[in-house]
Amino acid sequence: MHHVVAREHGGTNAIGNLALMCDAHHAQLHDGILTARGAAPDLVFGLPLGPSWDCEPEPGDERSSPARLA
Ligand SMILES: [Zn+2]
Repeated sequence: MHHVVAREHGGTNAIGNLALMCDAHHAQLHDGILTARGAAPDLVFGLPLGPSWDCEPEPGDERSSPARLA
């Protein structure tokens, strides 16, 4: 479970501050490989210098598909 605002920076366990992520993507987020902006549930994920996407890419839009990173 990712805290959008880290607990050490005053973040809480309120649902709006939490994002359920798989371990691999959570680690990438903390390592700076992925970025996240906004607030749950409307977080927008992206790459530091690349494209970004929300959690529900448009069907057929390969540019916004997280699978593209696999
Ligand atoms: Zn986290």
